[in-house]
Amino acid sequence: MTQGPSYAYFQGKIVPIEEAKVSVMTHALNYGTGAFGGIRAYWNDQAEELYIFRPVDHFRRLLSSGKMLLMNLPYTPEALRAILIELLRKENYHTDVYIRPLIYKSSPRIGVRLHDLEDDFTMFAQPFGSYIANEEGSRVTFSSWRRIDDNSIPARGKITGAYANSAFIKTDAMLSGYDEALVLNQDGHIAEGSAENFFIVRDGVVITPPISANILEGITRRTVMELIANELQLPIQEREIDRTEVFLADEAFFCGTGVQVVAISEVDHRMIGAGTIGPVVSELRRLYFDVVRGKIARYCHWNQPVYRDVIEPAT
Ligand code: PMP
Repeated sequence: MTQGPSYAYFQGKIVPIEEAKVSVMTHALNYGTGAFGGIRAYWNDQAEELYIFRPVDHFRRLLSSGKMLLMNLPYTPEALRAILIELLRKENYHTDVYIRPLIYKSSPRIGVRLHDLEDDFTMFAQPFGSYIANEEGSRVTFSSWRRIDDNSIPARGKITGAYANSAFIKTDAMLSGYDEALVLNQDGHIAEGSAENFFIVRDGVVITPPISANILEGITRRTVMELIANELQLPIQEREIDRTEVFLADEAFFCGTGVQVVAISEVDHRMIGAGTIGPVVSELRRLYFDVVRGKIARYCHWNQPVYRDVIEPAT
């Protein structure tokens, strides 16, 4: 099996990965003035097809981050999808992959600012498995770091420089022996994990922080909310969650493109529920993996086939 990536989309065309290189003077490398995405594509053995999960929604969010960063990019979400299909076909992947699109201030210039700089887009894709080792029972701690605030760096954008915050959070949790961390926002309520959204289940109600809680507006978050409402028929509340409320939850989980849906079995030495994966998260995981792999017809509008479709030319 190929380990990839062999290619990248770089400076307007697909090139061998070795040729996709930037200068040390690149503005985004110096100041974190870029934004990225994380998309998965799933191989379906039966259909012999690779399905990209919700690519247009991901590219729309990427371009929204670009808007916040005063970027002028000559792409529509649909054009970026066409480039992605072309890239995946060129790689000829027949396995699950993770896709990394990146928009960045490409000018080789000193000077902290967003304006009067050139912008560029690049993308690569590589085979990818799990992001968290214990998917059915992760051990989590509350981070001593706080989530970046909308008035510092917007958490609703996937801004490269802001991920230094996530890196502090993740590394301190892992070096202390945990799988992940929960992060409080400046108000002291739960925002999310280092790179995933967060939900609890309490007395049959599924609860998640609102998009005004300094979270990323996750596409998986939206996906699982739809699945919970339509398929599990459980009520969902978007509201602030206190730190100690987590200890009293019956179930808790993280979700995101990378983590997918991961059960939380323990937070700071308190068991969540019975300390094993609960019925809601169990069922949600089963559903989610069927949906992303293109196995459920009523959600196949989320699954973009790579090999079957005629590609619209990129504009
Ligand atoms: N929060 C943060 C901080 C993230 O980096 C991610 C991963 N993109 C998520 C949540 C989950 O977002 P999505 O479901 O769109 O991948």
